[in-house]
Amino acid sequence: MAVREILTVPNPTLKKVSKPVAGVDEELRSLMDDMLDSMYAADGIGLAAIQIGEPKRVIVMDLEWGKGERNPRYFVNPVLSDPSDDTLPHEEGCLSIPTYFDEVERPDRIKIDYLDYDGKQQSEIAEGMFAVCIQHEMDHLEGVLFIDHLSRLKRQRAVQKVKKLVKQRELDDE
Ligand code: ZN
Repeated sequence: MAVREILTVPNPTLKKVSKPVAGVDEELRSLMDDMLDSMYAADGIGLAAIQIGEPKRVIVMDLEWGKGERNPRYFVNPVLSDPSDDTLPHEEGCLSIPTYFDEVERPDRIKIDYLDYDGKQQSEIAEGMFAVCIQHEMDHLEGVLFIDHLSRLKRQRAVQKVKKLVKQRELDDE
């Protein structure tokens, strides 16, 4: 297990479309362990493999993180379907866009099919925070960030903010 660097905007890798994996093996589980470690270390609740530079259709999540107990979840080759007509705005953030938060409107219920950590096929209905998070992470697999749902002005503002932050962190490290 290892904490890996999380890529931030405007890194072009974040725009890549991720590819399905052949199945769940030891190597993939090791990647998922690294993803989870990296996510926890950055105080996040969700992370897609592309955010640590791996263009694979893999997502980790822990919606309980910060509330004490750990409850990690793994989604391999996830597929979304049957989004609800009802949509809800929700404030989102992203480990690849640190310190920037804004509202995105998405369906508040959606079906998800995926392979779990053991490679077993699973199917469930995501609602509330789970629905928000899984749609946000699914976007990453298509090279889409939550700021891509916002106006161009807001998007530019977010990227500038992150660039400044990254520069400051580099200076602090010297
Ligand atoms: Zn994100």
